[in-house]
Amino acid sequence: MANAYRIAPDMNFIKEIGKLGGQDLKKCFQCATCSVVCPISTDNKPFPRKEMIAASWGLKDKLVSDLDIWLCHNCGDCSTLCPRGAKPGDVLSAIRSCAIGEYATPKALARAVRDPKMLPILFAVPAVIFLAVGLVLKLFGIHWLNFGPEGDFVWQAQYINNYLVDIIMLPTAAFAVGVFALGLKRFLTDIHQSAVAEGKTDKTKIDPIGFIKALAIVIPTILKHEKFNECTENRERSTSHMMVLFGFIGLFIVTNCFFIAEWIFHIEGPYSQINPVKWLGNAGGVALVIGSLFLIKNRLSKKDQVSGYWDWYLVSLVLILGLTGLLTQMSRLGGLAGLSVFLYIIHLMCVWCLFAYTPFSKLAHIVYRTVAMAYNEYSGRK
Ligand code: SF4
Ligand code: SF4
Repeated sequence: MANAYRIAPDMNFIKEIGKLGGQDLKKCFQCATCSVVCPISTDNKPFPRKEMIAASWGLKDKLVSDLDIWLCHNCGDCSTLCPRGAKPGDVLSAIRSCAIGEYATPKALARAVRDPKMLPILFAVPAVIFLAVGLVLKLFGIHWLNFGPEGDFVWQAQYINNYLVDIIMLPTAAFAVGVFALGLKRFLTDIHQSAVAEGKTDKTKIDPIGFIKALAIVIPTILKHEKFNECTENRERSTSHMMVLFGFIGLFIVTNCFFIAEWIFHIEGPYSQINPVKWLGNAGGVALVIGSLFLIKNRLSKKDQVSGYWDWYLVSLVLILGLTGLLTQMSRLGGLAGLSVFLYIIHLMCVWCLFAYTPFSKLAHIVYRTVAMAYNEYSGRK
């Protein structure tokens, strides 16, 4: 006889899913069309039908540790073909955002990042930090801006262009890495226990070498967006998504190159426009702007799919990041020093928000989905 399973519905979880875009959840009548049409659903325990019923019962613990919610990339095929308009793709997206909040610490920050009313406060935080650190450094004789002999603005300002990036951004990035590390440890343990309990794998424990090999297999799949390209409804979103991903990768490389140039080889910026690293930076910025604009266009045109604050927060942040980065450079080259500094500070505030809030925001999917896909590969599931 099968083991008895006591159902303990979490009504707040059902309400939370509704608020995050899964408001049509209760329309589901379990026809299983969604699991049949999903281009990437698994043969062993297919999704998303089973997630729909678990969500309507409020089974939060079961769902936040469900590997399958991360295999879905919200292509929308199931939502378009669902005969009841229950939007299973959006329900899975809402469950993922609950899972991100569940694995991130501190929880209060996770709730704040999901709450539009908290947005002004979240964006004020970097401004306060920049100001406070700048005032302290001023006491030690470090100027906010540098001026040349003619009184003209010199870009290699001590605080704004130099210490601000290193003193503030590095600890912020370290904070994000720490939050992810703690969350991933619990996440991996939970998805493994859940997969074993549900018979998705016969592996009894996670072998680190085997898991790293699985990771090496799935990373090219992710970079090439192979799963994304299997969908029908939203295939064009794959290109824009890829532009944003590669934009970030390019800018990550550029940041590291210039960090090494400055702190190891003591080569101060701004760097020449014919420097290939600079080309990569400009290409990354353009990719962010164009990719995010296409993502916005796609979301606005898909009336049958839900786009909530969770989605708009991320795509808007990416757009503002790209625009302020490019406009800072253009205004500097155009001799508009004041405007350039203003735009650069806005840009740095966005970068800080990106670093600090990533483990709590939709962007965390890049980490959780990668780990989940690697686990799925490792588990040997078909
Ligand atoms: S979500 Fe729609 S397609 Fe899926 S089982 Fe429910 S009613 Fe059927
Ligand atoms: S949104 Fe796409 S990937 Fe996700 S469950 Fe539906 S069909 Fe599958």
